[in-house]
Amino acid sequence: RSIMKYMSGDNIEANYHEEIYRLMTMDALTQTHNRRYFNEALEREFQRSQRYRRALSLVLFDVDHFKQINDTYGHVAGDSVLRQLALVVKPRLRAQDVMARVGGEEFAVLLPEVEPAGALVAAEKVRSLVERARFVVDSKEFGCTISAGACSFTAEMASPQELYEAADKNLYEAKRAGRNRVVAI
Ligand code: GH3
Ligand code: MG
Ligand code: MG
Repeated sequence: RSIMKYMSGDNIEANYHEEIYRLMTMDALTQTHNRRYFNEALEREFQRSQRYRRALSLVLFDVDHFKQINDTYGHVAGDSVLRQLALVVKPRLRAQDVMARVGGEEFAVLLPEVEPAGALVAAEKVRSLVERARFVVDSKEFGCTISAGACSFTAEMASPQELYEAADKNLYEAKRAGRNRVVAI
């Protein structure tokens, strides 16, 4: 019931709080943000967009046929793919973008100050990065793809959930249309 961590240095107290904050806001597997942090960021950015009429976009993406990856290479390999995927995508986003793991093999990227056209570019960039990446597990190499739904804040939207649902609907459309693609209506 206890977790012990050894720390040394000048500022142990500050390091300790930093570490606790990291544990509370990050997903341990992928080192992207967790769902709780994402929901808070979405709420905050949504309110900011509403109040100051600023652009805000959201991209949701989900790994295609991830079950097959698990079935073929095992669950541990599947986990490794998620970790590698985050390493491929996260460094290529902007510092103000919020990338989070919002479900098992589903991620969100919140894009403050990004208009619809920019959201499409960002989603397509992520899709293409994953498509071109090679994933290595136990010296076996393979590729994988994602489907993405992008959506942007509009004045008619009354809640952050509406933005999320609109992106999710587009993600569903991307799956239905054949996967490895972006839908942004
Ligand atoms: P689709 O293209 O429609 O998204 O197909 P899919 O197989 O990716 O979709 P589905 O939602 O049917 O299955 C997702 C699978 O991902 C189910 C679950 O076993 C697996 N999964 C979810 N979370 C994790 C995880 O953290 N690690 C691993 N290894 N597998 C996971
Ligand atoms: Mg999937
Ligand atoms: Mg899924």
